[in-house]
Amino acid sequence: MEYTLLHTGTRGTPCPECKAISFSITSPNLFNYFLGVEMKCPKCDTKLDWWELLLRHFDWNFSSYLYGIVGGLNTSLMIHMKPNEIYTLDFQEIGIPSNAKILEVTYTPNGKGLFPIEMHGNSPYRHFIPHKILLFGRPFGEPAEKTPVAVSINWVQVDEENQLWNNLVEAIEAFSIHKYPSCIIPANVAVEAKLNKILDDYLSKHASNKRVTDFLTSGATYSHQLNVLLPLISNFEKFPSLPDHIRGGLNELRDYRNKIAHKGVTTKPLDKVITGRLLCSATFALGYLNLLEKEIIKNHL
Ligand SMILES: [Zn+2]
Repeated sequence: MEYTLLHTGTRGTPCPECKAISFSITSPNLFNYFLGVEMKCPKCDTKLDWWELLLRHFDWNFSSYLYGIVGGLNTSLMIHMKPNEIYTLDFQEIGIPSNAKILEVTYTPNGKGLFPIEMHGNSPYRHFIPHKILLFGRPFGEPAEKTPVAVSINWVQVDEENQLWNNLVEAIEAFSIHKYPSCIIPANVAVEAKLNKILDDYLSKHASNKRVTDFLTSGATYSHQLNVLLPLISNFEKFPSLPDHIRGGLNELRDYRNKIAHKGVTTKPLDKVITGRLLCSATFALGYLNLLEKEIIKNHL
């Protein structure tokens, strides 16, 4: 397979004012947001709000910005195709791990002569993108002997140790194809299960495992965990509290989740704006819980 690898990286979030600088989507930046540390663009001095910066990614119709929020990577390469010939595009060969989830592939011919067509067997794949794609160079426009085709691949590393993160990726994936109700359950599971695990570990130091499990399943259920126990523990651990607007977003997410789980449908319609805000809340919350968990471990060593 003949190709030129151009770039692999994660999309940052650009300064809304000068657009000259992009900020990496990292946990230190997230932590500073929770701490209330003022963030300014070093180029144009504009005051930045980490939440507002990332919320925009749900509005833009660019998958790499959307997946950048959950650590998605973008790989771009240039391949050279001949008309009426088959080109084998093998993602493993260009360094994408075999267990990665391929989210989107885009082809842009940089010249005349052909357009790449993905080939398939008797039963074409519909719901997932394979790691090896056969491309047929369908002649198109003025003939050319060879045509450079830019290929852009959005993919995300699947973390088998971290099923919760994978749930969030699944929610983002549903969002990218505008299946808004399908975002709700995986996004809610990601946050609810993480919070449950933190509280379970925390309380098990003070009571028997059985009593803690009973307490968290029949006593203090998710809503109480989120609205009462979490602020209490954050305070105990001298950790910044989860901002109210994010907690509000999680409560709203839980309401939608309950409607879907109990009635099969949401009673209030879900659109791009609402779902984007709920997913942004879930992403910030999962990041928050990961940071809090590390803080608790550090404080109790
Ligand atoms: Zn700027």
